[in-house]
Parts: sequence; C-alpha cells; structure tokens
Amino acid sequence: MSARIIDGKAFAAGLRQRIAAEVTRLKQAAGFTPGLAVVLVGEDPASQVYVRSKGKATLEVGMASFEHKLDVGTTQEALLALVDKLNRDPAVHGILVQLPLPKHIDEARVLATIVPEKDVDGFHVVNAGKLATGAKDAIVPCTPLGSLMLLKDTLGDLAGKSAVVVGRSNIVGKPMAQLLLKESCTVTVAHSRTRDLPAVVRQADIVVAAVGRAEMVKGDWIKPGATVIDVGINRVTGPDGKARLVGDVDYESALPVAGAITPVPGGVGPMTIACLLANTLIAACRAKGLAEPTL
Ligand code: NDP
Repeated sequence: MSARIIDGKAFAAGLRQRIAAEVTRLKQAAGFTPGLAVVLVGEDPASQVYVRSKGKATLEVGMASFEHKLDVGTTQEALLALVDKLNRDPAVHGILVQLPLPKHIDEARVLATIVPEKDVDGFHVVNAGKLATGAKDAIVPCTPLGSLMLLKDTLGDLAGKSAVVVGRSNIVGKPMAQLLLKESCTVTVAHSRTRDLPAVVRQADIVVAAVGRAEMVKGDWIKPGATVIDVGINRVTGPDGKARLVGDVDYESALPVAGAITPVPGGVGPMTIACLLANTLIAACRAKGLAEPTL
C-alpha cells in the first residue's frame, strides 16, 4: 500500500482562485480593494524571498500590496511608528511584519502593536486568546489554518479522531492543537521533553509534525493508515552535494505506512501564503462590515 499524496500545491491554487474571484466581486459590488502591508527589516535572504513571494501572490489575486523594506539598523521606535501608521491607514486591511526581526528589536512588542483586526498572521495575543476560547472572529495563524484545510479535505469530519501534534510553538504547534480540538479531535501535544515519542505518535489517526528536525518522524512511528501532515521545511545536503528541502517526516519510510501524507515541498508550504491572502480578505470584509466569504 502507498499513501495518498495530499497535493497542497493544487489545493492552494484553487483557494487562490476563489480568493481572486471574491476580490473581483468586492471591487465591483463594494468598490474597494483589500490591501496587505508587509514589513521587512534587514536583509535576511530567506525573509527577502518570503516577502517577495507574498507581495507577488497578493497582486496576483488582485489585492493591493504595500511593501516596506527597512534598513537593518532601523530603531524599534521607527518600526513601531510605521506599524502605528499602517494601523490607521484605511487602505491597509492586513499587516505582516516578517520575522525574525533584528536582535535589538523586541519582537513581542512589535506584534502586540499591530491592531488585532489587521493581524493577518494571527500572532497577536488577542487572536491567540480568541482561538483558544472559540471566538468566531479569531484570525488564525496561516500554517495551521492551511494544515487544517488539507486535513478536512482529505478526511472530511475529524470528530473523535486521535491527533498528535509534534511541536508546541506559538505559530504552529499550539494553534494547530487548538484547531484540532475545535474539530473535536482528541489532541496530544508532544515536544522535546515528551517521553517515548514514537509510541505517542503511533496512537494517532492524525499526525502533524512541526519540529524543525529533518526527517525525524520515521515510518515505523506511524499507525498504518494515519494521515500525516508534515509542516517542516528543512534544507539538507544530499549525497550528491546538492541542497534539497525535506520535511520533519521521513517521507520514504512513511509513504508505505500512512493513509495519506503531505509531501515537502508541495504540501503545507503553498497553503501558508494562500491562507495569508484568505485572512487578509476576511479582515477587509470585516473592516467594511461586509459578510465574510466562504472560501
Ligand atoms: P520551533 O523551533 O518554534 O518549535 C519546534 C518545536 O518542536 C518545539 O516545540 C520543540 O519542543 C519541538 N521539538 C524540537 N525537537 C524535538 C524533538 N527531538 N522531539 C520532539 N519535539 C521536538 O519551530 P516552528 O514551530 O516555528 O516550526 C516547525 C517547523 O515547521 C520548522 O521546520 C519550520 O521551518 C516549519 N514551518 C513551516 C511553515 C510552512 O509554511 N510550511 C511555516 C512555519 C514553520 P520544545 O518546545 O520542548 O523546545
């Protein structure tokens, strides 16, 4: 048996198409264009790539993109002043400050300064609290949101399933666990201090790996037929000396055991930007008092 491969790239393309159609409809019916502001401080190469692809994806769905590239030496005060300006700008419905920020800037302070209504990354404590308490207007972090969409598309109703999330970060593991709990899964959150992790993972109908360790979750950790969502993105050098991307799951050994699995690349990765656009669209509709589209 070989697992069904969950095509995140195709699902994300469909989602982006639905977002683009909705943006066109909003322009015609309500006469406004949703806008996303992305702020980059410094010249971290990976962050530059992310910011460029976010800007491109924003324009492709017909939204307005506002890119702010600041010098690495930018002071915290100057960054907070920019965030404050974007908070008050009616053309901006979503604000994303690309992380990591240079060491002299207090990341938590910056994230807390973004108004929760425009926090399309979903990192603000108000949005984290809303997700945890089941509020309908929480803005949910993009990677877990995209992972949940793939899970529901693959499995339908998730109620009663046992789910293990490996990783407890604020941006992936914890919100993922909250989302699965909201879907009535029985959720276990594992981390670096978990004892006998393979045995814990083996209980799961759903495994979400968000660890940041290349190919750590092995095929013999997985219950036969389980659905595996691999959030990890790790750059490794192969025996041929070439760099390639791998997940947190050992794909080759997991493939014959799992029922369904996301590949890396082409699984969760493409969902993250698509969900950022979805969050921006929803934030824009809320700002205008319009009904939220079903995507
Ligand atoms: P963090 O480093 O913030 O968190 C990693 C988590 O994994 C921690 O909770 C840590 O536990 C746990 N962990 C580390 N080592 C082990 C171990 N040996 N056994 C069990 N648990 C362990 O990472 P992120 O959550 O930010 O990201 C996780 C992965 O997802 C990374 O590969 C990242 O690149 C990728 N990612 C992908 C995105 C996408 O768009 N597809 C977006 C965001 C992230 P503890 O808390 O105890 O230290």
